[in-house]
Amino acid sequence: MRSSDNEDQRVWQLRGARVHGGATEPQAITIAGTRISAPDSDAPAIDLPADWHVVPGFIDAHIHGAMGADVMDGDADGLARIADYLPAEGTTAFLATTMTGPAAAIEAALGVTAHFEAAPGAAEMLGVHLEGPFVDRNKAGAQPVDHIIAPDISLFDRWQAAAGGCIRVVTLAPEQPGGEALVAHLGRHGVRASIGHSSCSAAQAEAAIAAGANRGTHLFNAMNGLHHREPGAACALLTDPAARSEIIADGLHVTPAMVKLAYRAAGRDRLMAITDAMRAKGLGDGEYELGGQAVTVANGQARLANGTLAGSVLTFDAAFRNLLDFTGCELADAIAMSSTNVAHDLDVADRKGSLAEGFDADLVVLDAELRVRLTVCRGQVAHDPERRIIG
Ligand SMILES: [Zn+2]
Repeated sequence: MRSSDNEDQRVWQLRGARVHGGATEPQAITIAGTRISAPDSDAPAIDLPADWHVVPGFIDAHIHGAMGADVMDGDADGLARIADYLPAEGTTAFLATTMTGPAAAIEAALGVTAHFEAAPGAAEMLGVHLEGPFVDRNKAGAQPVDHIIAPDISLFDRWQAAAGGCIRVVTLAPEQPGGEALVAHLGRHGVRASIGHSSCSAAQAEAAIAAGANRGTHLFNAMNGLHHREPGAACALLTDPAARSEIIADGLHVTPAMVKLAYRAAGRDRLMAITDAMRAKGLGDGEYELGGQAVTVANGQARLANGTLAGSVLTFDAAFRNLLDFTGCELADAIAMSSTNVAHDLDVADRKGSLAEGFDADLVVLDAELRVRLTVCRGQVAHDPERRIIG
């Protein structure tokens, strides 16, 4: 629901909690309209407990669905449902993520994203993450094998046109025929090539990174890992300073010890928390669908009938707490991995990923236990279960 112009320019502040992420003042942040403004101590204030935190809104670069909706449904109402729900877990921006499927289904889903704009007070869709179909069938994970195809520049171009140019990231297997050419093509068009669902070696991954594929999709999952005589893509992604990697910090896709290893190796500036969530996110256990396959969600795990993990039902705030817990990092490091790094990856670091003046007012209020208490998307209160903010 669109608010009035008058309300759009409202100046107000959150005060009393610890403000992180590049803010001018340590204990207050002022919001004017959709942006963070210079501190204004006279602005109407919401007073927060001193042991609460204000952090930059989380950015999820890899999410397929939530609340029963999936990007592949090709349904604008479904996209709106996802965008409306995400602030409940502190997410203020996301990439709508497709998956391997019939070409016509991918094209239809992209056509819907081309015209989608999240409502004020919902998470902003920053574009599309095309996951597959240009991947390796030997590392399919939950990508339907029958629809996996070789990297194809003209098909990508057709899809980018269908998407109105909003494809920002393509997960692909660079070692597949045509993989290198597609990596170079994406680089020329300002689209991130992300190594994933790939059986490439560390050497092949290094070559792909040098060619511009400076990103890894769900590190360790659906790629070769860290065998000491056969280092896989994971080794190249962890050690090459040019590469950033997504990681699913649910303790299930990657064990806590390996999340810690990734953090120690890559450092705080080259990891990006993602959820890779499927449509059951925000709902309960039960039977769902992913890429035309039946998925059972039970005990916080989403699996195909053969036991393969099929995305997650991880919430972003849980991933944030897990990063701190698994790695022993500081809050500032978890903020980098949950927001700032992703803003750089998606080329929106001039307006998101920080609470500096002039940036989008995308922020999350966390309590002392780091649970989400309030979320603001582009200046509008998007999640306020305790109704601290009236009007
Ligand atoms: Zn995925």
